[in-house]
Amino acid sequence: MSRYNISVLAGDGIGPEVTEEALKVLRAVQQMHGTFDLEFENNGASSGQFLKMGKAMTEEQFAQCKSADAMLMGAIGLFEARHQDGREVNGDVIFRLRFDLDLYAGVRPVKLYEGVPGPLRDQGKGIDYVVVRENIEGLYASRTGGCNVRDEIATDTIIITKTGTKKIVDYAFRLACKRQGRPVDGKSMVTCVDKANVLSSYAYFRKIYDEVAANYPGIEKDYAYVDAMAFYQVIQPSQYDVLVAENMFADILSDLSSATIGGLGLAPSGDIGDRHAMFQPSHGSAPGIAGKQIANPIATILSGGMMLDWLGEQHQDNSLIQAGKDIEAAVAAVLKEGIIRTGDIGGKSSTSEVGDAVVRELINQH
Ligand code: ATP
Ligand code: MG
Repeated sequence: MSRYNISVLAGDGIGPEVTEEALKVLRAVQQMHGTFDLEFENNGASSGQFLKMGKAMTEEQFAQCKSADAMLMGAIGLFEARHQDGREVNGDVIFRLRFDLDLYAGVRPVKLYEGVPGPLRDQGKGIDYVVVRENIEGLYASRTGGCNVRDEIATDTIIITKTGTKKIVDYAFRLACKRQGRPVDGKSMVTCVDKANVLSSYAYFRKIYDEVAANYPGIEKDYAYVDAMAFYQVIQPSQYDVLVAENMFADILSDLSSATIGGLGLAPSGDIGDRHAMFQPSHGSAPGIAGKQIANPIATILSGGMMLDWLGEQHQDNSLIQAGKDIEAAVAAVLKEGIIRTGDIGGKSSTSEVGDAVVRELINQH
């Protein structure tokens, strides 16, 4: 039986609660399939650990992440855990993993599940697209030293490299190939989101997009300026398949997109590289609702499903890919039924009741 090591960074705030439900579901699906063995190893890296011992992630903890087959994260971050200069220490974990393990693709599926109240008028048409974010460079590359404050002028430098852009755009096209048949209107398409009309760095991003797109004649090319994209995501979300954008633009658009599918509690994500990957809900540690068993664990459960899909592709193990699909189907069924759900989407159930309902559904569907 194939064996996979998963480093589990439950983290802070609601992190441990939602992670526990994802682990419950992963254990259940593993038992059902009986063809793979997931070994979970706890990793205490967190802002809470920083407050106790002055380090958000130790070298041993980083080494564990590096040697794991995949990482599952709850949420890391506490308002009071900061460096002298004001920066939150969660970057010591999240950015360290992104940069040092080259998790260059930030992948945010945006899917409106049946039975979930979304805020948009045309939601009847359905929403099912993915935001692909360049995770390493772009405007946020400044945080590694590009920022310059002098004489009451602050500047940041955007970095768009040919190598980095090629990698992310190619990832987006490969994803569109994999999703064939899935987009709401059936059209496979990668939308390049930029501001090529104003900044030459984005014009360069678009030029490289064109070069990569030429290798994928079966996938439609599409362009949108970021301001228009924000408008389209609200007005006609059903028309999209895969969006690809620079780091900051995609960061902003992905928060917008989670609002359109019922909120952060439902939005999973992956930080994915060629050899390593980490999966986590899109929300933060939400300390205000921590420890009350009211957080929605669905985003984390779906992130666990994405992890199995990625592991399955990495290791050409179809049973893992199927197990990932099973998790998504069970979540969809629970949401559609609409009886067991947390307060953020209009229900009264507890965090663990939602995890239990997903496990029951998995068993039913088997
Ligand atoms: P970060 O800086 O880490 O992104 P944040 O301050 O942006 O954190 P979150 O922790 O993501 O915020 O929380 C934003 C809001 O969404 C809060 O009101 C929180 O209670 C709510 N929220 C976040 N996650 C969930 C969840 N899983 N279930 C229910 N409510 C949630
Ligand atoms: Mg936030």
